[in-house]
Amino acid sequence: MFSVLRNHTGSILMRFILAAFLFLSNVAFCQSSDPSAAMGIESITGTDLRKHLFILASDSMAGRETSMPGQQKAARYIAGEFQRLGLKPVGDSNSFFQRYDVEVSRINYVSSFLTINGATTPWGNGYLSTSLKETTITAPVAFVGYTDNKLDPAMKQKIAGHIIVSILGPRNRAADTTSEGFMGKLFATRRDSGSFVLMTITEDTGRASFDAIATTLGSFGMDKGQMRLKGAAGGGFQQQLLRVYLSPTRAEELLKGSGMTVATLRAKALADSAFTPVFLKNAAVTIANSVIRETRVAENVVGFLEGSDPVFKDQVVVYTAHFDHLGSNASGVIFYGADDDGSGTSTVLEIAEAYAANPVKPKRSVLFMTVSGEEKGLLGSSYYVQHPILPLDKTAANLNTDMVGRIGYSYQKKSDENYVYVIGSDKISKELDSLLTSSNAETVNLHLDYTYNDENDPNRFYFRSDHYNFAKNGIPVVFFFTGEHQDYHKPSDTPDKILYDRMARIGRLIYYTGWKVAQLDHPLAKNPAK
Ligand SMILES: [Zn+2]
Repeated sequence: MFSVLRNHTGSILMRFILAAFLFLSNVAFCQSSDPSAAMGIESITGTDLRKHLFILASDSMAGRETSMPGQQKAARYIAGEFQRLGLKPVGDSNSFFQRYDVEVSRINYVSSFLTINGATTPWGNGYLSTSLKETTITAPVAFVGYTDNKLDPAMKQKIAGHIIVSILGPRNRAADTTSEGFMGKLFATRRDSGSFVLMTITEDTGRASFDAIATTLGSFGMDKGQMRLKGAAGGGFQQQLLRVYLSPTRAEELLKGSGMTVATLRAKALADSAFTPVFLKNAAVTIANSVIRETRVAENVVGFLEGSDPVFKDQVVVYTAHFDHLGSNASGVIFYGADDDGSGTSTVLEIAEAYAANPVKPKRSVLFMTVSGEEKGLLGSSYYVQHPILPLDKTAANLNTDMVGRIGYSYQKKSDENYVYVIGSDKISKELDSLLTSSNAETVNLHLDYTYNDENDPNRFYFRSDHYNFAKNGIPVVFFFTGEHQDYHKPSDTPDKILYDRMARIGRLIYYTGWKVAQLDHPLAKNPAK
């Protein structure tokens, strides 16, 4: 670590050491990198990254869920580092924090219930709803077969106003027990005009059973509800359809007195693609769905380094990573988020230290920003671009780092760790992409993998991290990423599994690419509009 040098570079001895160091650093690189950035490059080490990440992904940070105490604690740690490095606090009231309000909506389990023929069941007991819609509905019930069963116009009219009950999933997935098939069933839905409740009957056993589905939805954080920026329009909150999962036991209660069972209805609907809906005239059903809405506070952490050039210093290079993760589940199991995105957060801290350690200061200004709300839908970066601290039209580039600590699936097969996925680098400025390429050749020589740069890639990674909010505003971006792996969004994403030295090489590349942007004697050339 070289941050102490920053305060002592005036001494003759230190100048000598520095000069010797710069010389040695240059020898180490095959193609020569800009010697004025060498000390910064050298200062980024696996040891430092490891130190940060073991703190960020520790029990005490509790998975850093946005607006929760663990996230706030992580924010204070990052702010402390920014302060130690001598960065300028450019957040609210000259702090390192840019605060924003979020609205959280979640099911009120206490006041939600389902009544079938006079018997009332509490939420979670053989029924659960996933819609954040405040409503109480009493309506007649119609069973329609599978979610994809089509109705003729006369029947469509007839079932309007009914509570629709279907088998879980489309008919052609009925026998599919794979995990992909399960996801297809779980999220299959139908919308019947004039009907406002869809209840799907879960399977008797296995991963599509009621209890297993409740667990799966919980692991997606559905029991935590939804978070959005306060005052944001639209989103899922105004959804019209009340979506309900029903256990076979509850479904039998609906069928009481009809002479049918879940098993016979299932068999009939499976055998007949033109299944005729069954009107359950004996079923008296009321469902009440109650929603709690509350406002909470979250923060981005921002540290600023002013540029050294009087002309260029009003332009800024922005380094980002999200420091929030998923928190813990209902049983208190922590999702540590070491790779996602403790790795990027540690990298931004190391890059900030590199700028502080480097005796030559960049021409352009640099903003180091760790954002929260990413896992809730890129909220922190979305807030930032709506309330930019430095003008967006003066923002030269955004270099975003999200998950750079592990080996993704396809490189596991190749037993190769000498790579990094780069996404978005040529989309707004081809010049940025060529700076990235030359930075890599002059320093760490990783294989730059552009696989996910394709916007049609089914993973859609280009749209899935914070750089996208900058790209939407016409700001050139690079997103650095090492790929999804077995521990992605699992409690097992822990810091002991991170490849710290490889992460340091990626960190050096990110630092140096941003450095090159900061030193340009002209604005980064943007591609002609499509
Ligand atoms: Zn994530």
